[in-house]
Amino acid sequence: MANPIYNPKSLKAEEFIHDGEIRETLAYAEANKRNVELIDSILDKARPQKTETGYVCAGLSHREASVLLACDIPEKIQEIYKIAEEIKLAFYGNRIVMFAPLYLSNYCVNGCVYCPYHLKNKQIPRKKLTQEEVRAEVIALQDMGHKRLAIEAGEDPKNNPIEYILECIKTIYSVHHKNGDIRRVNVNIAATTVENYRKLKEAGIGTYILFQETYHKESYEQLHPTGPKHDYAYHTEAMDRAMEGGIDDVGLGVLFGLELYKYEFAGLLMHAEHLEAVHGVGPHTISVPRLKRADDIDPDQFDNGIDDETFAKITACIRLAVPYTGIIISTRETEATRSKLLRLGVSQVSGGSRTSVGGYAGYSADERPHDTEQFDVSDQRSLDEVVRWLMENGHIPSFCTACYREGRTGDRFMSLCKSGQILNCCHPNALMTLSEYLEDYASPETKEIGYKMVEEELKRIPKEKVRAIAEDNIAAIKASTRRDFRF
Ligand code: SF4
Ligand code: SF4
Repeated sequence: MANPIYNPKSLKAEEFIHDGEIRETLAYAEANKRNVELIDSILDKARPQKTETGYVCAGLSHREASVLLACDIPEKIQEIYKIAEEIKLAFYGNRIVMFAPLYLSNYCVNGCVYCPYHLKNKQIPRKKLTQEEVRAEVIALQDMGHKRLAIEAGEDPKNNPIEYILECIKTIYSVHHKNGDIRRVNVNIAATTVENYRKLKEAGIGTYILFQETYHKESYEQLHPTGPKHDYAYHTEAMDRAMEGGIDDVGLGVLFGLELYKYEFAGLLMHAEHLEAVHGVGPHTISVPRLKRADDIDPDQFDNGIDDETFAKITACIRLAVPYTGIIISTRETEATRSKLLRLGVSQVSGGSRTSVGGYAGYSADERPHDTEQFDVSDQRSLDEVVRWLMENGHIPSFCTACYREGRTGDRFMSLCKSGQILNCCHPNALMTLSEYLEDYASPETKEIGYKMVEEELKRIPKEKVRAIAEDNIAAIKASTRRDFRF
């Protein structure tokens, strides 16, 4: 077979994630990591530019961003962090979107060597939620205050067929407990067919999330020795099938710690460039999970683990490269790491998460079942504690799902980002959904801090009319059971 040629527009995995191009990129980055002139020009390109209506950002190519990632000049690294913060503030303000994972089933036919759900792990109990159990989990999540979920399931055509996933989505959307509802269900399931993606779209999912784990083909095949996930091309081309099936918000991610991080970083950005080149819209989100300890899994057995400083630099460089893409961090990370990364560009965090099947219903905030856990949760605080901590650090926890509900997905969402209307749209939506949380679920202490923040932040809404509507809606939230206001 002829050597594949690098082509971002190709639909073949080995042509858009081109090993030769990644290796040349890494060599170029290494050769230029102290080229101050080049680094300065890349930093200039990355800076947000003020326009009449707001800000725009050019983003960076995988080559440019790789030079920044390789750069080891301390002042330049500080500049990367500073620009990441500027971009974060320009497009996301001080808002942080909240979500929680919901594990449906840990049956899995794959052999991923880093995951405790792999087929050969006979010591882990296998569990799949019934619809009654899904309902109970959703009520428990609503009682915490969640509005946005990411559902997770292993790949198992017999135990977790697409029909099961669709049924669960239907159940989740159907539960309305007290003032609660789940307004956006994101889905993290194995790569599948265009037809199945179409069914997920019809079921009303938000983002389809699929982590690549590693872009390095050879390592990929070794890390996924058995099961359908072994097929690198089928997995890597999944987002194209999802988009063909009508899903226009897709979420990428690599599991940092499996392969050399510079390789993964270049591959991840090439994947984003590919989606933009072929479908006209880049990834909606990028997740930055790091390998963690779990049943049967010891992260020390993988020798590509990355330290906190490198992890922060990766996150900041992603922020510069793809300014309009949300960055997600999970409870895999500690409070200290999360705190640092929030400033550098992370826009979504999970809170009060359980990574086991059936981990919410019937357990108090401090109890957590470990038997079916996918990974150790480092940040074990309750959602109320995370919300309060965010506010104490100047972030607005947002439970907003307005774009999805107003049909602003894909490029329509991107145009909102670029329109400069974020302070007139996301900001009031964040404050209204935070008020719902404060009214319905918060502890008295969180409520007090929260309403002070809401009052202050309302003043920052530029359009007087929008501000007045938001104030009225918040008054209605406090005085009645009316909910779900949005711009
Ligand atoms: S990572 Fe996913 S596909 Fe692999 S074993 Fe775990 S649940 Fe299964
Ligand atoms: S309005 Fe849209 S972009 Fe803004 S926070 Fe809500 S869902 Fe996100």
